[in-house]
This record gives sequence, C-alpha cells and structure tokens, in this order.
Amino acid sequence: MTISPSDVVAWIGLGSNMGQATDQVERAIVALTDEPGLELTARSSLYRTAPMGHVDQPDFINAVVRASCGIGCCVLLETLQKIEKRFGRTRDGERFGPRSLDLDLLMYADQIVSSPRLELPHPRMHERLFVLEPLAEIEGDITVPGRGRLSALRQACLNQRVQRLGDGVPKGFKR
Ligand code: ADP
Ligand code: MG
Repeated sequence: MTISPSDVVAWIGLGSNMGQATDQVERAIVALTDEPGLELTARSSLYRTAPMGHVDQPDFINAVVRASCGIGCCVLLETLQKIEKRFGRTRDGERFGPRSLDLDLLMYADQIVSSPRLELPHPRMHERLFVLEPLAEIEGDITVPGRGRLSALRQACLNQRVQRLGDGVPKGFKR
C-alpha cells in the first residue's frame, strides 16, 4: 500500500505469553505488514513484562507498532481480531489470563470513541507500562487523547516491571 494524504495514523499494541511468545509477536508484526489497508511506519523493540492481574502466568512479550491506515477504526479492530484468531486466540479463557496473541488498537489518530465494541484510546493503555514504554521508544513524548502526556503517564507506572529485550539494564527493575 502506498501512503496517501487521507490516511490516518494508528498505534497497535501486541502481546503474547503462550508458546513461543517472541516468535508470535514477530510473526504478528509480519501479518500486520501483509494486511491490505495498513502500512507499518514504525515498530518498537520487544519488551518482556511481568503479568498484571493474574500474576501466576508466564511473562509477556510486548511491542507497539505505528501504522498508516486507509481503513476506518472499526474495520481495523475487526482486522486485528481476525489476526488474533488466526494465531490461535480463543476468548474462552479468563480475562487478563494467558493469550497466544493480543492485538489492541491503542489510538486511532486523536479520536476518542466510547462504544461497547471499541474504546479509543484503549481504555487501559495509560496505566500499562508495557504499552507506554514501547510507545515512547517510537514516539518520544506524545499526548494520549484525554489522558495526558506520555512522559507523565510513564512516571505514574514506574512501579511496574518492563525489560527491553537486548538491553543490558532492565527498565523499571530495582537494582
Ligand atoms: P485486553 O486487551 O484489555 O487485555 P481483551 O483483548 O480480552 O482485553 O479485550 C478485548 C475486548 O475489548 C474486545 O471484545 C473488544 O471489542 C474490546 N475493545 C474495546 N476497545 C478496544 C480497543 N481499543 N482495542 C482492542 N479491543 C478493544
Ligand atoms: Mg486485547
């Protein structure tokens, strides 16, 4: 897809903690690249993150990508859910439990949406360092619509543990 001026920028969060999680996330990024109507314009490193909620489960691998989209936000969410399914995601497990692939639509331009199927920005992204940290890696200090500056949101999450893979020093871990 070639990027046209009418395209909208969107940010997508990826996560996995089942099977070969690193592989799943890397393959999911390729799947997004192959999707018509989407052009990936940036990606973060992979991050290893401790589970939140149900803590008795494997660590997650997370990443964030930026895409230029020629499709609307509802179609984009459907696309993400279709890819989740293809990667073996079922929705019969516990909420916030282990998942083969989680694709969240974090932001779609500066839109604020509140519907039963889709909330924008993603309703929990502002309190998750595993989203904020990779997002900051590709964007610096942007504003999350309705939530504030990324730098301030990250400051409020520093009790969470996030390790950029390939980094010698894990971010957010006490030394
Ligand atoms: P989470 O990603 O917060 O851990 P789930 O992936 O289990 O939770 O939640 C998916 C549900 O949330 C879907 O039914 C979907 O319709 C809804 N949803 C609402 N807003 C969004 C969004 N911005 N991105 C992804 N799913 C969303
Ligand atoms: Mg999700």
